[in-house]
Amino acid sequence: MDFTLTASQSEVQSLARAFAQNRVAPLAREMDERGEMPLSLRQEMAVLGLLGGPMPKEYGGGGWDAASLALCYEELGRADSSVRGFMTVHTSLVSQCILQWGSEEQRQTYLPQLARGSLIGCYCLTEPNAGSDAAGMESTATLDGDDYVINGEKIWITNGGLAHLAIVFANADPSAALRTGRKHKGICAFLVPTDTPGFHREKMPGKELGHRASDHAHILFENMRAPATALLGGRGEGFKVAMAALDGGRLGVAAGALGVAQACLDACVDFARTRRQFGQRIGNFEMIQAALADIAADVDAARLLVYRAAWLRDQGAKATRETSIAKLFATEAAVRAANQAVLLHGGRGYSNEYPVERYYRDIKGLQIYEGTAHIQRIVIARELLGRE
Ligand SMILES: Cc1cc2nc3c(=O)[nH]c(=O)nc-3n(C[C@H](O)[C@H](O)[C@H](O)COP(=O)(O)OP(=O)(O)OC[C@H]3O[C@@H](n4cnc5c(N)ncnc54)[C@H](O)[C@@H]3O)c2cc1C
Repeated sequence: MDFTLTASQSEVQSLARAFAQNRVAPLAREMDERGEMPLSLRQEMAVLGLLGGPMPKEYGGGGWDAASLALCYEELGRADSSVRGFMTVHTSLVSQCILQWGSEEQRQTYLPQLARGSLIGCYCLTEPNAGSDAAGMESTATLDGDDYVINGEKIWITNGGLAHLAIVFANADPSAALRTGRKHKGICAFLVPTDTPGFHREKMPGKELGHRASDHAHILFENMRAPATALLGGRGEGFKVAMAALDGGRLGVAAGALGVAQACLDACVDFARTRRQFGQRIGNFEMIQAALADIAADVDAARLLVYRAAWLRDQGAKATRETSIAKLFATEAAVRAANQAVLLHGGRGYSNEYPVERYYRDIKGLQIYEGTAHIQRIVIARELLGRE
């Protein structure tokens, strides 16, 4: 396996690094304090071609491979998890899902606008009573003439307040669970413009810990009508659509976590070189050196796992297990790195004078969304054992 970057992968990495370090990182603290991301950043991402990066050129994209996309997420994650999260949902969960499952008409209608950023996308799966157990969703889609009438509630929807287009999952045949014993059988995915009557949204209440600059919404569907042509994938294929999208999204989260771990390492090395106690730099103390070495080993291992999963996707191989391993390891490595980074910065690590306290708060989100660390372990074990 050769991980030497191709010329086009290096180009994407340089572009994303320059944007992340020059434009995102200097704003990260202010965005965290204000609790929002400026529109201008999203516009710049569109102009630079990041939002449509992995879309084929015929749909206005840059034709990136999976490795290029992972490199872009790594660089964004190194600067700010809210910005990286915005792009992962918009690009990996929404655009790539439409590319994989959409009709030609849906692709042509939505993908160029999503690539230009004139449409922003969100992915509506999680409900108050259905998170890890997504197939247990209670939102319903009832056929009425040529339309589906959707009722239900979604929570924690990233980009949900500002999105123009939502992928909405709802059950069109709740009795299928009783008939077949498989509760995901009736689930459908719909492409819904967010100005559709009956689509109501409000800011997600109570989000304090991290991802403060992200937009998270609580969404209600009240007799919202979607024509049968809004189905993404076939009737009853919604759960497959949801899981396939998460396979791609998880690689984005893994790469973002790798970026956070790298940012922790960078901050710790800088601090260990400059902070002096007992008449010498703290980097001279063996316990500090051990912490740096542990973070560096975690960063390298996470990077290899993330690049392997991306490489497998680029070979057209099934990479569910490897993607879950990358997400599990990279997020836990970044949690360890952020934990050490706050300690290593002493009291300064506890203040927002340094970015490590933001890394520490943000990284917990990556361990939870797109399948918690427990769920990744279940996916990995299932791939090892097979189904009985
Ligand atoms: C910042 C943020 C952004 C998000 N963005 C989105 C989004 O854009 N779209 C969207 O649809 N959702 C989004 N989510 C929701 C997220 O995907 C869910 O929170 C996540 O899947 C977990 O679901 P839950 O919160 O209901 O927890 P639960 O499923 O209730 O889990 C509670 C605990 O039980 C554990 N658990 C559950 N089942 C098992 C099991 N079988 N074995 C062992 N342990 C288990 C879990 O790992 C967890 O520790 C977001 C969440 C956050 C925090």
